[in-house]
Amino acid sequence: MDPTGRASELAEVMRIAYERGYTTGAGGNASALTDEGILITPSGKFKGRLRAEDILLIDRQGRVLKGEGKPSSEWRLHLRIYEIRPDVGAVLHCHHPMVTGLATSMVKGLEIGREVLAPLSESDWTEEARIMLKDVKILPWRPYGTEELAEIVSEAMREVNAVVVLRHGAFVASKDPWLALSAMDSLAEVFTINMIRRLVG
Ligand code: 13P
Ligand code: ZN
Repeated sequence: MDPTGRASELAEVMRIAYERGYTTGAGGNASALTDEGILITPSGKFKGRLRAEDILLIDRQGRVLKGEGKPSSEWRLHLRIYEIRPDVGAVLHCHHPMVTGLATSMVKGLEIGREVLAPLSESDWTEEARIMLKDVKILPWRPYGTEELAEIVSEAMREVNAVVVLRHGAFVASKDPWLALSAMDSLAEVFTINMIRRLVG
């Protein structure tokens, strides 16, 4: 069923993301590129207890090749990132309350409704986060699971590895599921440093 172990890795990455408080039980999803197709988390299941058997295999048109139930409602978005970024092998999406909240506070005063680079200062960035993410873009809200959301997130990811959608959550892209989790760690890191700097002064 899972000869390469990739499906169990993907389930484990999602479980860890939930346990670290990076995502809510219902929110978030993850995918990984394989030679057979794209492994993706199921839609509408609790994200903190996924197992390899819950992961679906889909083709590049979103058709289910293996697995029970429905693939994540964000399957279009995941597929478009793989189309645009041949260097990407995994995508992780989390409903991270602190990252989403801080991004919203950052765009206050800026033009809400258009894409902006996160106004983080250079002192918020660790060298590791720069390597993992390049930069972070903040995007206006679009309804979840839509073509519009897939379009704006994948276009933004041409230049950066991390995107935060207002009132929704964070998307990161990397080479494999573990590095995608590391990218989410880096995103939480720069936003936490920013928050501490702003609190302490
Ligand atoms: P799925 O359970 O369909 O992946 O939806 C969760 C989500 O975060 C949608 O943006
Ligand atoms: Zn979401």
